[in-house]
Amino acid sequence: QGSVVEEPPLHVVHIAVEMAPICKVGGLGDVVTSLGRAVQEQGHTVEVVLPRYNFFQQSPLLGGTQYETEFDFGGTKVFVSTCMVEGLRCFFVEPRNGMFDGPVYAGNNDGQRFDFFCKAALEFLLRTGRQPDILHCHDWSTADVARSYWQDYHQYGLWKPRVIFTIHNMDFGAQKLGEAAFFSQKFTTVSPSYAWEIGGHPAIAPNVGKLMGVRNGIDIDIWDPETDKYLPLGYNAQKVVEGKAAARAELRKRLNLTSWGDKPLVGVVSRLTKQKGTHLIAHSCFRTIDRGGQFVLLGSAPDPKIQSEFDELKNRYGGDNAAFCFAFDEPLSHLIYAACDLILVPSMFEPCGLTQMIAMRYGAIPVVRQTGGLRDTIFDVDNDKARAAWEMEGSTTWQEDGVDATNGFSFEGTDDGALDYAMNRALDAYYNDRQWFHGLQKRVMLQDWSWNKPANDYIQLYYSAME
Ligand code: ADP
Repeated sequence: QGSVVEEPPLHVVHIAVEMAPICKVGGLGDVVTSLGRAVQEQGHTVEVVLPRYNFFQQSPLLGGTQYETEFDFGGTKVFVSTCMVEGLRCFFVEPRNGMFDGPVYAGNNDGQRFDFFCKAALEFLLRTGRQPDILHCHDWSTADVARSYWQDYHQYGLWKPRVIFTIHNMDFGAQKLGEAAFFSQKFTTVSPSYAWEIGGHPAIAPNVGKLMGVRNGIDIDIWDPETDKYLPLGYNAQKVVEGKAAARAELRKRLNLTSWGDKPLVGVVSRLTKQKGTHLIAHSCFRTIDRGGQFVLLGSAPDPKIQSEFDELKNRYGGDNAAFCFAFDEPLSHLIYAACDLILVPSMFEPCGLTQMIAMRYGAIPVVRQTGGLRDTIFDVDNDKARAAWEMEGSTTWQEDGVDATNGFSFEGTDDGALDYAMNRALDAYYNDRQWFHGLQKRVMLQDWSWNKPANDYIQLYYSAME
């Protein structure tokens, strides 16, 4: 045995425009918070720099915000304030020019707003004498950190950091993503399959040697059916049947669904955009009702055309056996995950996807399209036994060899028939072999989708970026 050389702890600064729960729009916001926390728990220092949105004023979580510093920059005064959020030290950059008066994503001048924020964030680090080991930036919105740091800060006092850049969604701002890939020491995307899928993109290909796929995790403290304050009855894998029955009763009552009959409950919690497979979501509603189940949808469509399609769906099916909630409602999402037997994620593409992992934590069986991170996390009970055993080795809380690690139902195509292939098998399983179905629910609850493993992958990556 040689001597153990402990690597020095890291100082990581995330620069991002989303963070759960104070300014979350999608998965990016979840990742910043839960990756940050998981890395900090390993003994490293993690800080987050965000824009100070005007809507922060209404946030009960930010009551303790304090003044940090101020400086003149880019023709305006910039104030920086600070607060702890979910155990992470956050700094809020506030240019006094009204730039962040609106929502996170406000429209046409987002590029300009966020580029300004990236530079102001670097300026803040420089002026406060910080020398983090790692700047971790996210998606097109903070892609500019990578270029700006190496061109305008590295030689001028903020010298130490290396840059890690994470692509959460390749669909926006390819040119910016490519530039950040070029300027960062390593860049990642949020699952191995998605890394493989985007590797050939012209914006990525020249730097693909620096690309690594690390699947996201979920924050198992925030998503914990045992302590979840939004559920009528806490439960764990041993109590999955009782816990889910209580949640189901509560959800049915709240959404005016009939509680009569033995009906599988199928849920969708999603942004309603083409990416999420809206045509298949609509079809799944039909198929669920057709097979005697109940359907619950929580989501909203930024595109009025898609929204009107869902309004139509609601007119047609809404009632005793289908409920449509067109809102962003975090508490309700918890109850839906707990109440549902199946959670559907039929995305056309999916960088990682958190929904399917949250679903499993609550004992809801995922039905997914096999793409990106969905492929890396969901192993079909009929088709993926070998792949599951290989991928899940060491990731379940029990250690027996040969335990079946499959955890859901999946399909490949993009048409209704493809979805039916998975949906029908899932519903058959529910109707025909309830004992097996409950066993599956228990099994998925025991799988480890936390940040433990992915956070370690990131920590290794941070160290390798410093070499
Ligand atoms: P994306 O980031 O593409 O939206 P993810 O699956 O990575 O997709 O993350 C979605 C997250 O947002 C999950 O935590 C999901 O529960 C949540 N979510 C999506 N839509 C809603 C909604 N209408 N209300 C509450 N939570 C939602």
